[in-house]
Amino acid sequence: MKKLLKKIKFFSIVILIIFTLVASNEITHHKIAITAQPLNGCLSTDSLPCTDISKKTTSEPFIPDAKLNNQERFLSAIARKLSTIPQPGTYEYTLLRMYGAVFVNQDVGIKLPQKDIFASEQETQDFQATLTMAHVDGTNDCYLQKSAADALNKARVQQQIPLKSGYGSGDCTRTFNTNLRFWHKYANDQVLAKVQQGKETKILGLVAPPGTSQHLWGLAIDLRIGSKEQRKALNQNGWFQTVENDIPHWTYVGLSEENLSLFGFKKQAIRGITYWITPL
Ligand SMILES: [Zn+2]
Repeated sequence: MKKLLKKIKFFSIVILIIFTLVASNEITHHKIAITAQPLNGCLSTDSLPCTDISKKTTSEPFIPDAKLNNQERFLSAIARKLSTIPQPGTYEYTLLRMYGAVFVNQDVGIKLPQKDIFASEQETQDFQATLTMAHVDGTNDCYLQKSAADALNKARVQQQIPLKSGYGSGDCTRTFNTNLRFWHKYANDQVLAKVQQGKETKILGLVAPPGTSQHLWGLAIDLRIGSKEQRKALNQNGWFQTVENDIPHWTYVGLSEENLSLFGFKKQAIRGITYWITPL
């Protein structure tokens, strides 16, 4: 009997020790969970507006609210990238309508400028220095933002995709001065003044005014495309024609074709070419 009591006492102590160990471990886990919480989400006590970067960029892809109209859907998407949306009727708004397709891109690897006009070579270079660039296969010195180049290289595996000029860098990411040189080839200061006043827009489908080209952002390329299959390969990899009447010009939008209308784009066929136009 004495032996049995001793045994019970022993097991009670063992059980007590196990229980204490488990309980203390739970507390430690609980503490870790609390400490880790602000890293994953937003602090409710934070006085600043809460931006949950992890949710915004990776876990759930952004799709505009289907209840909104085309323009509202487009604006809701670009507002996530562009801190100030230009006012309708301004030169900046005209540029956004013509070249703003890229601003819907939700890819975290893509960098977009905070405004649609660069004032100088220096400002352009400062922006371009922040980009992650990659080489377009089969070219001499054609570089684009990495996601755009990767997507183009995938299309090039499916089809031959020749540059407009052959293999030069002028078709790809340009400097401010190259953009300026191209402008002076087709237009002049009087035309620029008219564009700025909203009296001339046709020229924008031929050449971009100084400091405004999508080529400055590393998200456009000029190509020599003839077949339906080539267009399909580009479209399947997020490349679309977004500038009306600029036939060789392709823009990296980074969306699937089905998603373009969800983001408010208007489909427009002109002389056998399908353009996806901003709804502005
Ligand atoms: Zn172009």
